[in-house]
Formats: sequence, structure tokens, C-alpha cells
Amino acid sequence: MKIIVHGEERYLPVSTVTLYDDKATYPFHCVACGNTSNIIGGKVTKMTPILEPSEQIPVISTCKSCKAKYVFQDSYEPEVTITVILFRTPVIQSFYCYLGGGETKYGNKILEYNNESVYSYSMSEPVPLPFTTSCTNPDCHLTYNFSQLN
Ligand SMILES: [Zn+2]
Ligand SMILES: [Zn+2]
Repeated sequence: MKIIVHGEERYLPVSTVTLYDDKATYPFHCVACGNTSNIIGGKVTKMTPILEPSEQIPVISTCKSCKAKYVFQDSYEPEVTITVILFRTPVIQSFYCYLGGGETKYGNKILEYNNESVYSYSMSEPVPLPFTTSCTNPDCHLTYNFSQLN
């Protein structure tokens, strides 16, 4: 999906976020900008940069800050590691842990990436994909496994 932000054309995919309902609620901060948050019922197990076909009716939620679009779907499979498939873009994108955000978002920044390189904030260096890392916030125990759409 192409949109215009501040006069520049940017590609913004609709990400499908899969949740495992553990009967608790969590904040979901936009992973692209770390700003706005939704409340989600369950933990994120997977994120893909496309609209995944599903029997559930998709409801698109748009980040008020950067206009990234998300669709949430439920799954019955708990995951320890969150699978994240990044989209390919020439523009440098950020990835923030979904749990932390707002004022503290820079403590939850995990990656910067484009279609040529991926920089890890936990390693403080460029990394090859696939790449598994924990959230850089010491109070957060989430682990992410990143790969990229071909
Ligand atoms: Zn955003
Ligand atoms: Zn985190």
C-alpha cells in the first residue's frame, strides 16, 4: 500500500499480528514508530508484513502517528519466540518492541533495517537475517526472531 507522508511517497504494508489469548491484556505499541498503542487480548506470537488470509473478519487499525496498518488475529498456539517477517524497503525503518513505547520507546528499539542491511540495537552492529534477539529493555523478556520477505 502506497501513501504520501509529508509529501513523500512511502510504502506501508498492512501487517498481520497473530495473538495467543492467554486471558490477559497487553499494550501494543506501533512497532514502526513506537508511539501509539492499542490494548490487545493476548501475547503477540507472529507478525507478517502482509494481510494474511484468515477466517476471522479483518479489522484494520491504523497508527495515528505513522499510519502503519495492522490487522490482529487470534491463534491457539502459544509461542516463546515472536516470529517477525520484515518487509523489504529502500527506506530505513525502525522496529520497536510492541510492549514498550511512548516516552520510553528508545529503550525498546530493537532494529533499524532496509532491504540492504539490518542494524541490531542489542548487538550495536549490523547483523545478518534470520536474527534472534531479546528486547533491549532489561525489564522485558520478549524474544524476537526476525527474517525478511523475499
Ligand atoms: Zn506508528
Ligand atoms: Zn520489550
